[in-house]
Amino acid sequence: MVDKKAINLLKEMLESFGPAGFERETATIVKKAVKAYADDVTVDKLGSVIFSHKGTSERPKILLAGHIDEVGFVVSGVDEKTGFLTFNPLGGWWDQVLLSQRVIVRTEKGDVHGVISAKPPHLLSPEEAKKVVEKKNMYIDIGATSKKETEQMGVKIGDPVVPYSLFSTIRNGKLAMGKAFDDRIGAFIAMEVVRRLAEGKVKHANTVYGAATVQEEVGLRGATTVAHVVDPDVAIALEVDISGDVPGVRAHEAPSRMGKGPTICTYDTSMIPNQALKQFVINTAKRLKIPFQLSIVSAGATDAGRIHISRAGCPSIVIGVPTRHIHSHVGILSLEDVENAIKLTLELVKRFDKKIVNGFTAF
Ligand SMILES: [Zn+2]
Repeated sequence: MVDKKAINLLKEMLESFGPAGFERETATIVKKAVKAYADDVTVDKLGSVIFSHKGTSERPKILLAGHIDEVGFVVSGVDEKTGFLTFNPLGGWWDQVLLSQRVIVRTEKGDVHGVISAKPPHLLSPEEAKKVVEKKNMYIDIGATSKKETEQMGVKIGDPVVPYSLFSTIRNGKLAMGKAFDDRIGAFIAMEVVRRLAEGKVKHANTVYGAATVQEEVGLRGATTVAHVVDPDVAIALEVDISGDVPGVRAHEAPSRMGKGPTICTYDTSMIPNQALKQFVINTAKRLKIPFQLSIVSAGATDAGRIHISRAGCPSIVIGVPTRHIHSHVGILSLEDVENAIKLTLELVKRFDKKIVNGFTAF
């Protein structure tokens, strides 16, 4: 299982400040952690951290990608009368999950805590109470009473904002709860795989590149530059999957279940995976009795969407961890699923030699 030290690193990563375009704090945590075991660590010019482990052969190059940006906001203005902040989303948000949530605004004078203000029910007409308030009509309250006060606190247009949400484990440590699992859990899995390769002196006839990519939530941007830098022969995007074991979700909309194993994604709106690779992943999981689930994401994209069409194409697959309530302040996932995703990825890395990988695109 994922050990205590790794859980502490995961907590640090999840609680760090890093909305799309502002990932430096999270990237620094990743960079520091991987230095202990990676053969090489670089940061590309968009800000993604790339860390490698050399096996017995330079090729094939295997890319394990997980994005470290989280969904957040940027300040779009300060209300003239009240000093409250308006904001634009960084990534996809459902308006209904926002009211009364705590946020952190990062300013040049430091972090400022705030809450997305909501009218008390006493002031709402019955009609108003039934309606969803739209983001464009929401405000962040940082405790200021005027525009001047807000400006004195250092807040200005373009400042980034993230959910304030602490990490914890529940159900006797079996489940984890917190923000930004999407997709720091993916970056964490890539890091764990490389750490176990190095510390366990595991034999692999390839070179492995872990990547903590940036700006996924605003259009898979980090994956584009990482794919160019690494030039991979095969890629695994490590991601969250939408756990469908939530009331109101129909099975075909989100077939995966928390705790039933990592998912092998068969389709999303950004990629149809290489079928030979998909079958290889399924066969490997079956042979090793690693639990897995086949999934389909009818609306959603991952870094693999860019990686698989980089250069002349790159066989790619998405391995996911079923996660409840993504793109909100608090998600829940199973640490057993995380462990099995690490195991499956590690076993694939051990098997990806020249012959196997060439076979994915052979005619
Ligand atoms: Zn996302």
